[in-house]
Formats: sequence, C-alpha cells, structure tokens
Amino acid sequence: MERTLVILKPDCVCRGLIGEVVKRFEDEKFNVIALRMLHLSVEEAEKFYAVHQGKEFYERLTRYMSSSSVVSMVLEGENVMLRIRELIGATDPKNAVSGTIRKKYALSGLMNVVHASDSLESANGEIAFFFNDKEIFHYQRREE
Ligand code: ADP
Ligand code: MG
Repeated sequence: MERTLVILKPDCVCRGLIGEVVKRFEDEKFNVIALRMLHLSVEEAEKFYAVHQGKEFYERLTRYMSSSSVVSMVLEGENVMLRIRELIGATDPKNAVSGTIRKKYALSGLMNVVHASDSLESANGEIAFFFNDKEIFHYQRREE
C-alpha cells in the first residue's frame, strides 16, 4: 500500500488545528500509520528542505519550520501521495481550490498549514527522515 509523509507546520499546531487536519485525512480513509511531535532545529529544517536551497524563500522557510513544534506523520492508502497533494491544495492559498485544507486554513504562501511529499521517491526519503521501520504501524481500517 502506498505511503506519504505529512508535516503539520507550526501555524497548524499553534492555532489548534491538529485535529481538524488529521480528521480530513481520516475522513478520506487514509490510515495514520506513524505520528510524532517534534521541534526541528534550523539545521534539521535546512536538511529536510535542502531541495529548496538557494531559493529566495529558503531562509524564511527553514526559520519558520524551526520556530515551534510540528507534527510529522506517515499516511497510508490507495494513491495517497497524489490524493493528499490534492486535498491540501496549492502552495499559496490564493491559488488553492476551494475545499482544500490550505484554502481554508493557510495564513500565507509560507505559513500554509501542512507539508506533503510531492512524489513517491521523495515520500520514501522524507518518511526515512522522521521514522524508522519500528515506528511505522500498518493496520487494517475497520468501518463498523
Ligand atoms: P509545497 O509545500 O506546496 O510542496 P514547495 O515545495 O514549492 O511547496 O515549497 C515548500 C514550502 O516553502 C511551501 O509549502 C511554503 O511553506 C514555502 N514556500 C514556497 N514558495 C514560497 C514563496 N514564494 N514564498 C514564501 N514561502 C514559500
Ligand atoms: Mg514541496
């Protein structure tokens, strides 16, 4: 079954939106199979977002992501990587489709509630960044 990595960013945690956002994922029948709160150091945020090194927003992004605690999680489900990208919406809430998480909750193009992997390859690397195999728990969803 396909897996992806999601991070609830500082603006999500600090505004009491953890439950709201996780509910959206669970309502779509994705299983949360790993979950942890942590406070990234600047160095860790720089490493996680290394792909954006050199971009105009890189320093703001890494400072922001290490400004407060975040919640990282692994979601599992059919076609989960693309479907979660759709569910969260465009990076800048101004461009996000109505009904998406970022459209509803994002404060700006930087403080946009949630990170989600953008390919299966990056999902594998990002999952390994936060979790080892023993911290990931596959289970069957029960609907009754
Ligand atoms: P996404 O999170 O939608 O995959 P990117 O990978 O392009 O977006 O960027 C990573 C994160 O960097 C974004 O979620 C956002 O927090 C921040 N970011 C991206 N572009 C900008 C920008 N133009 N101005 C400010 N922050 C940005
Ligand atoms: Mg991205």
